[in-house]
Amino acid sequence: MQADSLKTSILLIYTGGTIGMIENPVTGALENFSFAQLKKHVPELQKFSFNIDSTQFSQPMDSSDMDAKAWRRLVDIIYRNYEKYTGFVILHGTDTMAFTASALSFMLHGLAKPVILTGSQLPIGVIRTDGKENLLTSLEIAAAQTPEGKPMVPEVCVYFENKLMRGNRTTKLNAEDFNAFRSYNYPDLATVGIHIRYNQNAIHYQEKEQPFEVHTEMNTNVAILKLFPGIQETVVRSVLSISGLKGVVLETYGSGNAPRKGWLIDCLSQASRRGVVIVNVTQCKSGMVDMDRYETGYQLKSAGVLSGYDITTEAALTKLMYLFGQGLTVEEVRLTMLHPLVGEISMP
Ligand code: ASP
Repeated sequence: MQADSLKTSILLIYTGGTIGMIENPVTGALENFSFAQLKKHVPELQKFSFNIDSTQFSQPMDSSDMDAKAWRRLVDIIYRNYEKYTGFVILHGTDTMAFTASALSFMLHGLAKPVILTGSQLPIGVIRTDGKENLLTSLEIAAAQTPEGKPMVPEVCVYFENKLMRGNRTTKLNAEDFNAFRSYNYPDLATVGIHIRYNQNAIHYQEKEQPFEVHTEMNTNVAILKLFPGIQETVVRSVLSISGLKGVVLETYGSGNAPRKGWLIDCLSQASRRGVVIVNVTQCKSGMVDMDRYETGYQLKSAGVLSGYDITTEAALTKLMYLFGQGLTVEEVRLTMLHPLVGEISMP
């Protein structure tokens, strides 16, 4: 359905990333340019029948520099403008977009409006840019309404190259292709061709309206520990004994398996007993952790490691930051990690 143009107003938030970069004529390296310059390259923005306002980070950033402080800034912008706008589009670098989308999905509690993150692989000033289509379609999606006049996609999403995905299910998979993001374990929320086809069965609509609240505290005392054949005890022990460590995403093999080494299980059980929450996430792109399937997974479970089921590393890590940021006890964090909060896990 077409948005009611009289009432629809979208806030475009520019954080930086390739979409708004330009080539330095001397070094040839890509550098950020201002949002005003970016808009000049997209005159189509004026053709929409709804209102588009914009705001930007004072210093546009490469998304490699994203951190909890920048997420807080984004959440703050959305909170201050929540009543005024029907939806939000965030222009963001692709490198850490899946982390930001996951973090925002937890930080924006009771969200009932679209927050669409997008970016591009080629800067918007380049003739073959993918940025224009990504930007224009994201705006159209953010403004779309159901026949009842409600936002069509009231979720934090990533839109990239013809696909709208639940933000906390995405992963960047390609450094070169325009088709750079995937949601391996959850269906796309919309596919875009001549028509934008919404998959309303996959979109989350609140049954009962919840109050919109934001949670800005993120505890970044977390780590990712990726297993590999030949990994040494000193590596595992060093990571797990980091002072103040709260949570670890343990990237395992296949359906959640790890080498059957006594020292590994000892290190994990000791950390777990000390209150470190360890979540088992598979290194496979798709599929689910099942620690009851093989002995190698079962021993992790006995060591106190939690199943991440089909969660992405990006979502598991930011969920740990979010839960510890709320001041929950270790037991509360452990329990909450095992259940979906905002559609980030499918239960077996
Ligand atoms: N390095 C850039 C960034 O993530 C890459 C991109 O935007 O595609 O900010």
